[in-house]
Amino acid sequence: MTLPHLLGLLPEDLEALLVHAGVAVRAAETRRMLAHAVSHGLLGFPIARPLPARLMAEIAARFDRQLPEVIDRATDPQDGFVKLLLRLPDGALCEAVRIPLEAQGRYSVCLSTQVGCAMQCAFCATGRLGLRRNLQAWEMVAAFLAVRAEAPGRVTGAVFMGQGEPFANYDAVIQAARVLSHPCGGRISAEAISISTVGLVPQIRRYTAEKHPYRLVISLTSTVPERRARLLPVAARHDLEQLAHAIADHAQDRGGRVMVAWVMMSGVNMDAREVEGLQRLLGGVPLRLSLIDVNDPRPDGFRPPDAAELGQFRDALRALGVPVVRRYSGGAGRDAACGMLAAKVTGGAC
Ligand code: SF4
Repeated sequence: MTLPHLLGLLPEDLEALLVHAGVAVRAAETRRMLAHAVSHGLLGFPIARPLPARLMAEIAARFDRQLPEVIDRATDPQDGFVKLLLRLPDGALCEAVRIPLEAQGRYSVCLSTQVGCAMQCAFCATGRLGLRRNLQAWEMVAAFLAVRAEAPGRVTGAVFMGQGEPFANYDAVIQAARVLSHPCGGRISAEAISISTVGLVPQIRRYTAEKHPYRLVISLTSTVPERRARLLPVAARHDLEQLAHAIADHAQDRGGRVMVAWVMMSGVNMDAREVEGLQRLLGGVPLRLSLIDVNDPRPDGFRPPDAAELGQFRDALRALGVPVVRRYSGGAGRDAACGMLAAKVTGGAC
């Protein structure tokens, strides 16, 4: 029988599981237990502020406390991004990336949500792996703790943008975000947690209805139907009109701008047809467009735009009144950037 893992639980989950098993426990005790495990990252027993011995014994017997092993780490000397490769208890490999933030000495963590990915986006190395399995909530939290343990400063954010499509593993991702943002968990502000999706419309609608406090980032990348279908095969399941309605409804529900990601590929999705499509589909919807350079190491792969192509595209977007941010996708020197996570053992560079 698989035991629930401590790192995937909120205090109320731990309390409910113990009570269900006939173990008497107080809410303060489950809060103390999980603060020890997640806030302090300590899975060993006994704990700093001890619990009653009989309760410690019950928790030790009823919950998993294994941790993944860090088997490789690679630092990009250009920008300080650090990629960790973790081996999970079943042997699966999972990657997480430490991202230096502009605020000096602060970091965010890019977390994977699946081993591989089934979405097959044309510009993404993870998509070429295919899907091996979903990650469980505790595995995402454990990856966060592994990165945080090695960080030279405070970790103040988390983004679910590593390997995998987060909304294809919806429940586990939301649970991991809850644990990371809980005061007895990762203590990350909910606004500093971002969850990305390539455009799974039913899950976007569910997320909107459930009113989660984390920031949603929706990858659009093309507004020309035949291009989007070629770049993001998910478009065959959820067409652009459906996606645009879901984005508009999310914006209306939140009363603010929706972050829309755009992976920039020179000569592919940077022209006037894309800008016209954006106006047609989402004109008047409050958006912020996050422009990301494609990272494709293949010799014949996609290339990011040069300064002139980028400038033209950005000016055309601004003329529509769409605020634009350029997101730096670092770690490319160590295959740690967006679209490059493919679980290779690199040999280590730290
Ligand atoms: S871009 Fe994201 S959704 Fe698309 S294949 Fe890569 S990991 Fe999957």
